[in-house]
Amino acid sequence: MSSSPEEKIKKLGKKLGANLVGIASVEDINKYAPEGHRPDDVLMGAKSAIVFAGQLTPKGAWHSKGYQVHHMNRSFGIPYRNRIAFDVALYIEEKYGYYAAVASGGNISAKLCAEMAGMGTRSMAAGIVLNKDWGLLNFGVAMTTMPLKPDGMVDEQVCPHPSCVKRWEKEGKTFCLDACPECLSGELEDGKIKWMRYNRHVCATRAQTRSINSFQRTLLEAINEPDLEKRKSIVLGTFFGSVVATVSTANTMGQCGECLRGCPITIKARTLKPKWKPGDPG
Ligand code: SF4
Ligand code: SF4
Repeated sequence: MSSSPEEKIKKLGKKLGANLVGIASVEDINKYAPEGHRPDDVLMGAKSAIVFAGQLTPKGAWHSKGYQVHHMNRSFGIPYRNRIAFDVALYIEEKYGYYAAVASGGNISAKLCAEMAGMGTRSMAAGIVLNKDWGLLNFGVAMTTMPLKPDGMVDEQVCPHPSCVKRWEKEGKTFCLDACPECLSGELEDGKIKWMRYNRHVCATRAQTRSINSFQRTLLEAINEPDLEKRKSIVLGTFFGSVVATVSTANTMGQCGECLRGCPITIKARTLKPKWKPGDPG
């Protein structure tokens, strides 16, 4: 039996490296996205958004004592996920004759597209979209004028997990709120999120210390430093070295994700059970 275009597109996205592929309708996205941040702002006449999701790191990176290990293991970075979106966009244009483009450039909320494509729901932890099986995911998005059948939103809120509801009722805390009270605040009511606030300005200065912005800021600091020895130590120091390494590999970071370290959904998603033991055939 021949498969539908939606199935073919999803199969290709997975073959190229996405763990999940979902489709959202532009109509659904436009119910929430303000003007200037809509699919039409990326591609005129866009009808569908195809979302490619990937797990952030191998599960083992969460089990490291060193945070840098977690950071350096980020596997589904911007260049990688945009590459998948790019290849699928070309496939749609060539095979089906509809326009397509990668939704990169900051105007579109990939999280909103992911929610509308049924990949998960917003969480108390920095508004991150959590998937019930995969936990924290990163997203790349391709827009197309092709009218594709959308997956629609999931029926149930993933966050809060029942153990967070219990903890809230007992202590007035959840695991994520407890981990980062500087950036996160909110309340649960009747087992659901009543309100939540994510102070992204505080989060950015704490979590985005290895990025293009930190490269520019540190370079300016070095240029303005009149003392030659101090200037040398800024440029040749380990901090600037790690910023250069991150920028050169495009392995920059949006959020540190520490608020999710104790999240029951993320813990379940990153837990492995060995499927092989010494002596078994390979
Ligand atoms: S990503 Fe890091 S800094 Fe930002 S809210 Fe979470 S724990 Fe706090
Ligand atoms: S710890 Fe996880 S499940 Fe619990 S409230 Fe925070 S994000 Fe939601």
